[in-house]
Amino acid sequence: MRLSNLYLPTTKEAPSDASLPSHIFLSRAGFISQVASGLYNFLPLGKKVLKKIENIINEEMEAIGAQEVELSFVTPAELWQESGRIEKFGKELLRFKDRKENLFVLGPTHEEMMVNLVRNKVTSYKQLPLHLYQIKTKFRDEARPRFGLMRGREFLMKDGYSFHANVEDLDREFNAVEEAYKKVLTRLGLNFRIVEADSGAIGGTGSKELMVLADSGEDTIAVCSKCEYGANIEAAKRSERTDIPKEPVAEFNKFLTPDTKSIDELSEFFKVDAYYTVKAVAKRLVYEDRSEIALFFLRGCDALQEKKAQSVTKAIDIVDASEEELSEIGLVAGFMGPLDQDKVKYVIDADLYEAKNMICGANEKDYHFVGVDMSVLNDAFFADIVEVKEGDGCPYCDGELSYTKGIEVGHIFKLGTTYSKVLKAEFLNERGQAEPFIMGTYGMGVSRLVAAIIEQHHDENGCIWTKESAPYMVNVMVSNVKDEAQMALGEKLYAELKSKKVEVVLDDRKERFGFKMKDAELVGYPYTIVIGKELENGMVQIFERATSNKENIQVENILHVMMERI
Ligand code: ATP
Ligand code: MG
Repeated sequence: MRLSNLYLPTTKEAPSDASLPSHIFLSRAGFISQVASGLYNFLPLGKKVLKKIENIINEEMEAIGAQEVELSFVTPAELWQESGRIEKFGKELLRFKDRKENLFVLGPTHEEMMVNLVRNKVTSYKQLPLHLYQIKTKFRDEARPRFGLMRGREFLMKDGYSFHANVEDLDREFNAVEEAYKKVLTRLGLNFRIVEADSGAIGGTGSKELMVLADSGEDTIAVCSKCEYGANIEAAKRSERTDIPKEPVAEFNKFLTPDTKSIDELSEFFKVDAYYTVKAVAKRLVYEDRSEIALFFLRGCDALQEKKAQSVTKAIDIVDASEEELSEIGLVAGFMGPLDQDKVKYVIDADLYEAKNMICGANEKDYHFVGVDMSVLNDAFFADIVEVKEGDGCPYCDGELSYTKGIEVGHIFKLGTTYSKVLKAEFLNERGQAEPFIMGTYGMGVSRLVAAIIEQHHDENGCIWTKESAPYMVNVMVSNVKDEAQMALGEKLYAELKSKKVEVVLDDRKERFGFKMKDAELVGYPYTIVIGKELENGMVQIFERATSNKENIQVENILHVMMERI
């Protein structure tokens, strides 16, 4: 490609709402342009990077026997009603009617469509396993589209769905996809971590996320200092605490504790470690057709993990409850406890199971109970709702957990029969009995990956594409196109590199050297061969983008050296 022909509108200005390097540089370097909130055009170089990523994914999917299909983007709302997800997805689903008044949805994901594709067609265990995938535009009317390609409303996703006759076979496929995804990210030159994820409201038996490590990541992940363990903070677990503070042994009693509302005040009042206090967190749980207040009880030294709270209560959303809302139903903020509390539903953190000598609110203004034995509540709903902290112990070894930031670029999920049951997609097993398919689902954010690569690979001058993601590997730059010798060498190198199947551009634009060099850095070609004044002395220069290294090479060796580098 000749840059004199390429549609490459580079600019000095970044979009006013751009804060992340990927958003700034992909816009400035002419890879993408914004249409409206969360909607982007891909220009020639942007499209090229997308295709690179798609090709890598296709190769790795082919290698594990997954088959590419392409399902309709416009999907009948009936299918979403059948699965019950039309309400769950809420406003993220873009709905519209056709001229015959039929309701449709722009596909935000394709579980229903994929199940519909195989149901009543794949009918025997002999036709299993089956793994189908597509790379296809998705639409989610995200509440807060932001960060350019990172959280768009229209975006490109690779979504795969597998069908199995038994759980063991699903496990095998799940592991195979995990390995294939690792290869994709490794080939893209990304530093990533695979972490345990929240299985969410959908249920299922296991899920993992692929996180590209970057400070700008929206997800917090807890990683072990010693072993491979890593988990999204929404799902992270910790080992049992060993440095247990001294127990404040006391008889059960009700105590006047005027104005002692916070955990700090409470532990100060009784001179006990917050470990022995019970914290109450009040939330409003939002469901499809209603909402209700619920209380979450944890040790005073711990914090509620909202996603865990949402998961265990199967709520669609979870929001803070105000003091007024609480008093309306007879609860006293600052003095709420799990004993004698029958006004609202509550969940107790698993770490409080059978805890002794605890201090908790007495559900009466200015009173707390001391010497509480939690085992009187053994029949209550206990669940892991705690957020792990930095410094907590790893659940698998004696290492320590610390936080890091990640960009979720993939999510693999053991669905089990969640969708096949409701959509009545069944096969006949070896004994001739009908059973719902056991399913897996595997997503990868293709357009988000474009941004993730740049988040991890950029400097103050622009993009630094990795070898397998670069739109072009080499930029042959003719400093002065009016100089016949320079131009002739440029043309020759361009042709030779092309004949060797190197992806190469020729910068033959009538622009100043300084401008071209800035552009080369902004766009981020891994290598630029600079043909300039030194040609008179038989020399050209190789500029390596990742290291900013400049190396003078004799003209007769340049092709050889370049081929060796790439
Ligand atoms: P997130 O938590 O970031 O909203 P998700 O859990 O909704 O992601 P999935 O439904 O698992 O995402 O979709 C699979 C993949 O699609 C994600 O891992 C992510 O890489 C990508 N993806 C999801 N939403 C968006 C979006 N709005 N813009 C770009 N990519 C997205
Ligand atoms: Mg989402």
